[in-house]
Amino acid sequence: MKNAYKDIKSLTADELKEWLSAHCEKAYRADQIENWLFCQQVSSYDQMKNIPQQTRDKLAQSFAIRSLTEVQHLISVDGTVKWLFQTPDEKFIETVLIPTNGRYSVCVSTQIGCAQNCAFCRTAKMGFIRNLEAGEILEEIIRVNEYLKETGEIDADGKPAQVTNIIFMGMGEPLNNLENVHRTCCTLHNQKLFNLGRKKMTISTSGVVPKIKELVDRNTPCCLAVSLNSTNNERRSSVMPVNKVWPIEKLLEATDEYTRRTDNYVTFEFVLMKGVTCTDEAAKELIKICAPRRCKVNAIVLNQMDDPNLEAPTQEEVDRFLEKVRAAQIQITIRNPRGRDILAACGQLAYKKQQKVANVDTESA
Ligand code: SAH
Repeated sequence: MKNAYKDIKSLTADELKEWLSAHCEKAYRADQIENWLFCQQVSSYDQMKNIPQQTRDKLAQSFAIRSLTEVQHLISVDGTVKWLFQTPDEKFIETVLIPTNGRYSVCVSTQIGCAQNCAFCRTAKMGFIRNLEAGEILEEIIRVNEYLKETGEIDADGKPAQVTNIIFMGMGEPLNNLENVHRTCCTLHNQKLFNLGRKKMTISTSGVVPKIKELVDRNTPCCLAVSLNSTNNERRSSVMPVNKVWPIEKLLEATDEYTRRTDNYVTFEFVLMKGVTCTDEAAKELIKICAPRRCKVNAIVLNQMDDPNLEAPTQEEVDRFLEKVRAAQIQITIRNPRGRDILAACGQLAYKKQQKVANVDTESA
């Protein structure tokens, strides 16, 4: 069947109802099936006890219920966990769990590889392979929930731990896969399913301006973070090619419209690179951008790559930058690097060809 590898979790409730009706099944089964998929988080149709066997068989013939195969997971000294998953077409993605003071944040990939080609990001080196389906993105989260259950992790209230926050900051540019990311957010936000609040989900973009507008039009339940990373066009274009298409002025027009129409602030992510973005001049320019706006800045010290021209600043340089920006009453926080020892930190997610992992030869990846 043509749909054989489509993941059932990618379907909206309406699509599932339509499919059931078209296959002479009761449409109300859709709610029951979604409950099994997203609340019970079952991994086989046979576990769907209140669904008749023949309906289960039909579903199993048409849709996959699991799409990802775990290749390995690595645990950092700081408690961060990184998974390598294989997709049905034998590609690879990474997912990261970041436990912090009773919060369980998951950094999900939205694409296999990325087309944005930012100079400082390892994912860029993979090139773009394809978008992930909504079912695949949701499965990243479900698989982390399974891990938390298996390891018996207990949350701050003494209850079994569950994923509490989603950050769309893994491999890929989420806004270049907006349809599937939107579906994912809607399923996560649905009170009957994951019941995650709007503020618990953050989409991070390199600055795909028309898609920021579309995100507002669609009313996607999420917060917005923008990887500003540089404060003038010349410098930004030299490390983020997307800036040549949508320069800073256009990007700020879009974020201003986002703030006006959603009544929510934007977080500007700002990677601190020695001599490039972590300078007195950049601090001044950042203040100029942020002072008239309702926004927050999240600074991230560069996780060093192979490029000798892009270096992490020293602690003194970072402190000096933060002090300058704070002195202007701009809200700026510094993101703690997590999982660096297992290459799970920002900009470190990538999967290299010819890498052998756990006896899986990935030459064909
Ligand atoms: N494509 C999206 C989401 C993925 S990147 C985006 O660009 O926002 C997630 C965050 O990691 C971005 O803010 C990006 O600027 C940052 N990042 C990328 N490479 C990094 C590196 N080497 N060190 C520190 N942060 C990095």
